[in-house]
Amino acid sequence: MTDELAKNFREIFQHEHQDIFFAPGRVNLIGEHIDYNGGLVMPAAITFGTYLLTAPNTIGKFRMRSINFDESLDIDVQNSYSKKDESWFYYPLGVIDRFAKAGFELKGLDMLYFGNIPIGSGLSSSASIEVVTAFALNQLTNAGYSKLELVKISKDVENNFIGVNSGIMDQFAVAFGEDSKALKLNCDTLDYEAVDCNLGDYLLAIINTNKPRKLAESKYNERVTECQEALKALQQELEIQNLCDITGETFSEHAQLITNEIVRKRAKHVVEENDRVHKAAKELAANNLEAFGKLMYASHDSLKNQYEVSGKELDAVVEYSLTNPNVAGARMTGAGFGGCAIALVKKDYFDQYSKELISYYTDKIGYEPGVYSSLIGDGVRSLNGTLVH
Ligand code: ADP
Ligand code: MG
Repeated sequence: MTDELAKNFREIFQHEHQDIFFAPGRVNLIGEHIDYNGGLVMPAAITFGTYLLTAPNTIGKFRMRSINFDESLDIDVQNSYSKKDESWFYYPLGVIDRFAKAGFELKGLDMLYFGNIPIGSGLSSSASIEVVTAFALNQLTNAGYSKLELVKISKDVENNFIGVNSGIMDQFAVAFGEDSKALKLNCDTLDYEAVDCNLGDYLLAIINTNKPRKLAESKYNERVTECQEALKALQQELEIQNLCDITGETFSEHAQLITNEIVRKRAKHVVEENDRVHKAAKELAANNLEAFGKLMYASHDSLKNQYEVSGKELDAVVEYSLTNPNVAGARMTGAGFGGCAIALVKKDYFDQYSKELISYYTDKIGYEPGVYSSLIGDGVRSLNGTLVH
């Protein structure tokens, strides 16, 4: 694939690329809508993601192209940049802006992106394109940022340049992911552990509902605000910094402080989901995939009924999975409102699962989902030297 991309680069820019980088997408195994509430999450990097080929140019411009989009950008090198519309190139331009403001600038760069990950489907192609850009600029400008600093820069771009109030989980997983490991990440302290993700007889299935996620960003931001409101109410009696500082049990003792019923439901999801991640981590360590799977189903149920970020498409995937004895668990992954679900499916029955799910889903929803099996892969890296010239 990288050879093909090198050819594309040559055709577009009329010279060879110099460097090539890759950042994966991610799935979140459990712990949804937790990262901006300071709790525990369990994401893993996948083997699909975003490639970036670069070479300096001498015309004083950033020239950006994406194989995935028709629009392109040629922009003069400046001291700062701003977002004007919803075009894709504001993701990398936001990263360039942060480097420029910190005094790390290039004289001009040609950049070609390609994502083999479904874009806008909850597998975090946005974090992937941010982190791959930050990693590349760090190398090309000799800025010397640590990986954690690159994660924070990328998150800042998503929050304050793009305008999505997401937590740190996505960029963290994309940067720190490790082959065959899940990351047990405390989103408050940023302490993390890469834990063995030995799936035994099971494999990880990713199901793309293929539902376009309309209004996802505004609804996402609405949930963030609801959580802030719940926290404020609880702080009347409890000395806490984050919703996830309390267990489900403590929450039920103080839940009446939250007068708005909807806000109370949102907070209930958050604290109970956080408890579930603690349990799930123990089950994964004990290789108890069946118990892990039950927690995934419980997570989905809460996201559907308490947090209300699912939808009939994601629910259809979980409904079918529940009827199949070869599935340990399934749930939506990522922000929701469409996008992707994941399932733990017995390896030998994956083909049957895929066939039956496609038929069930298509009957119910009216179009087909995409069903893939995925491996857990490494985080952002340079791919220099992997090309056959
Ligand atoms: P998700 O992160 O779940 O995939 P988002 O809506 O957060 O969905 O981010 C998707 C956006 O990220 C795209 O609309 C585009 O602007 C940008 N993007 C991601 N991957 C690429 C790519 N390969 N080329 C260009 N833009 C990309
Ligand atoms: Mg995103």
